[in-house]
Amino acid sequence: MRIIADLHIHSRYSRATSKEMTLPTIARWARRKGINLVGTGDFTHPQYLKSIEEGLVPAEDGLFMLEDEPTVRFMLTVEVSNIYSQAGSLRKIHTLLFAPSLKAAKELTERLKAMGNVYADGRPVFGFPAVELLKMALDISEDFLVVPAHAWTPWFSIFGSKSGFDSIEECFGDYSKYIYAIETGLSSNPEMNWRLSALDGVALLSNSDAHSPAKLGREANVFECESSYPAIMDTIKSKDPERFLFTIEFFPEEGKYHYDGHRECGVVLSPEETRKARGLCPVCGREVTVGVMNRVEELADRPPGFVPEGAIPQRSLIPLEEIVAEALARGVNTAAVKKEYRRMTDAYDEFTILMDLTEEELQKIAHPMVAEGIGRVRRAQVHISPGFDGEFGKIKLFEEPQRPETKGPTQMGLF
Ligand SMILES: [Zn+2]
Ligand SMILES: [Zn+2]
Repeated sequence: MRIIADLHIHSRYSRATSKEMTLPTIARWARRKGINLVGTGDFTHPQYLKSIEEGLVPAEDGLFMLEDEPTVRFMLTVEVSNIYSQAGSLRKIHTLLFAPSLKAAKELTERLKAMGNVYADGRPVFGFPAVELLKMALDISEDFLVVPAHAWTPWFSIFGSKSGFDSIEECFGDYSKYIYAIETGLSSNPEMNWRLSALDGVALLSNSDAHSPAKLGREANVFECESSYPAIMDTIKSKDPERFLFTIEFFPEEGKYHYDGHRECGVVLSPEETRKARGLCPVCGREVTVGVMNRVEELADRPPGFVPEGAIPQRSLIPLEEIVAEALARGVNTAAVKKEYRRMTDAYDEFTILMDLTEEELQKIAHPMVAEGIGRVRRAQVHISPGFDGEFGKIKLFEEPQRPETKGPTQMGLF
């Protein structure tokens, strides 16, 4: 079956996360989005684990569901933050863990309880190295999957410019062979990651990292396989293009750290401009935050546009609410936009609307400008001022750009 999976989200027990991120609300929104497999997030938080145990019932091997929302499956997932020093530098790494069973999830939680505070945050923070986390998970079960999260963001990621590493090996040493996948994050897409031959062996996953229900599925993975934990893990580990069909991507320019810059001064720089400015903000003279594009170029050994053999295709989308907001020329959080979004997704789920409906079908359910906006996204006729230093990029579907812009990448692969 076709599975659209979003495997990195947070519950209400994580910092800066919406109170609405409870299992029933997550499931309801997942259905509206067209996601049929979603990570629980935060399973190491004891109160949340209790609501997982009480609220979910077992479905297929390693997967769970709510009894009254049987179209959506849950997988046990958590993100962990490790902050430690290695070779004289401070490292801050976020890592996703996928657990094969409730028993394994509970055992990991027990072990982590002894190492720090799992109550403080749904994304717990520890002072030991990320490789120790990997060893601990594998010691409990070889079926855990450990995935470096949003691998390129400057703070808190394996390749981040501020506190990361230059390779998987530098971080995980002899245990690197157990790293089967990395998460590309919102500010990078697979096309950028293909420029590193060092990543040819790992699968590239895309997830939303949602902190509120409406953000679910802004990135996702599309599989064609049996619905079970072992089948999905095998699909990821094998990178079999018959089963791992494609990933759904943000236009990476829209991500918060695509370009370099200094937010306080409103300074956005391309990697080349940063080199010319010697890494310093031309307004205040302080160091700029080096973004994802720059870091990819630093570590890449291939030119832009290189497509490795067996690469899983990608498809760039813009969330429907943002398209509606652009089409109606209203803010994304206005009642008019919410109402139109709800009306459309009462008829079809969001991914069906964005990817599958024919133009004729779209005309029937969508405002003409919204239908035109969806068409433009499908044709990658999108203008985006790139995000930088924590500021999201800005999309324009209908106006001419007012400032220097980058054009979205061309749609790859299948499309
Ligand atoms: Zn994170
Ligand atoms: Zn500055």
